[in-house]
Amino acid sequence: MWRRKINGWDFQPFSCRGEKKDMLQVYTGNGKGKTTAAIGLAIRALGAGKRVYIMQFMKSLAYSEQEVLKGFAPQLCLETSGKPFFIAEEGMLTEEERKEWGKDVVVFPKGNPPADYVRLMENGLQRAEQEALEGKYDIIILDEINVALAFDLISRAALENLLEKIPPDAEIVCTGRKAPKWLVDRADLVTDMREVRHYYQKGILARKGIEN
Ligand code: ATP
Ligand code: MG
Repeated sequence: MWRRKINGWDFQPFSCRGEKKDMLQVYTGNGKGKTTAAIGLAIRALGAGKRVYIMQFMKSLAYSEQEVLKGFAPQLCLETSGKPFFIAEEGMLTEEERKEWGKDVVVFPKGNPPADYVRLMENGLQRAEQEALEGKYDIIILDEINVALAFDLISRAALENLLEKIPPDAEIVCTGRKAPKWLVDRADLVTDMREVRHYYQKGILARKGIEN
């Protein structure tokens, strides 16, 4: 088998590589680049003739990538589960932040998120599951699902159930901060985006086309 080491990296032709096909990728961490990495992967995959499904959890139709991706190609389907309001677990916000947010944030006790939000996310996962199980897609991107898991908006059991049933050739990508340990342990690839510096610490707010 053709194989060589270059700068310590092991190179071999794709056709010679192992045949494990259903891969689980996780992009997590506080640094910027998780969702955009997943979108980059989607574009690359489309270029190779693959079909891609993206479900964006906890996001409404307010992200600039949606403008392009929604009509980009018949092989790409992008859907959102919606974001009815901002949420925070008790203890996450300082008193000052809580006052600042006022009625714009719903604060809930850990493990007991608002039921209507949970329903929305469950519907989003069911949608993704329907699409994934039909076998129409090679790549299934569950954007921000890690955050939904961390807030208990989606249960571990529900995602595990989907992962068990996924077609053998499919690639699953889960993005978002705070990926739970069980998901990280289960994944074939984990990238932890580490925030070295971010301009929001200088007071720069989210910018259209860069952050959203
Ligand atoms: P991107 O979507 O740019 O790839 P991401 O998916 O890694 O980033 P998220 O945690 O989903 O990042 O956050 C969404 C966006 O909000 C990111 O672009 C991030 O840089 C930005 N962001 C995070 N925290 C703040 C903040 N406090 N103020 C302004 N923007 C922020
Ligand atoms: Mg993101």
